[in-house]
Amino acid sequence: MLRVASRLDGTRITHHVYVGNVSLNYCPNCGVKLPIFTEPFAPQMCPSCGRTQYHNSRPCAGALIVKQNHVLLVRRAVEPAKKLWDLPGGFLEPGEHPLEGMLREVKEETGLDVRVIGLLGVYMDRYQFKGEDFFTLNHYYIVEPSGGTLRADDDVDAFEWFDLDHLPDDNAIAFGHEQVVLRDLHLNRNAFKIVSSSD
Ligand SMILES: [Zn+2]
Repeated sequence: MLRVASRLDGTRITHHVYVGNVSLNYCPNCGVKLPIFTEPFAPQMCPSCGRTQYHNSRPCAGALIVKQNHVLLVRRAVEPAKKLWDLPGGFLEPGEHPLEGMLREVKEETGLDVRVIGLLGVYMDRYQFKGEDFFTLNHYYIVEPSGGTLRADDDVDAFEWFDLDHLPDDNAIAFGHEQVVLRDLHLNRNAFKIVSSSD
């Protein structure tokens, strides 16, 4: 049976710290100035046209590319979290299924084609960068390489296959939820048959 961490474990979500504009200043429909909302992330209804703006979590998808008890991590060449180890993935495009988004991001960031083994789980996090502040909803698939050639794009400056039993320290991992994702991968490595028969 799949074991996963609780919804918010490890995501460092605190409702007391806001680094960006959580609420909108103007209605995106009619342009009227919106009242100041005291509750961050609360729905904002425009007093003029009645349209409500919701601050939903934004969907993302990522990949755990595995091979014989190892997982491929990419080192970020750009902020946020520059020089920290990351999992290939990113924000979904409009209407894009998480699976398609994951395959697109993997190809862009690593050059690899991959075969899906399974969905590990869905993880919450918070993204605070350059005046933006919102929640993210992150889908993680376990995959294995099936083709292509490993090569870095502009956002990545290094790759490394890490042994699942010797992963980088949490403070070397780019985003809080990824620490939990990697722990869940380790916990479930037998269920997903990631450990090769020779291990
Ligand atoms: Zn309006």
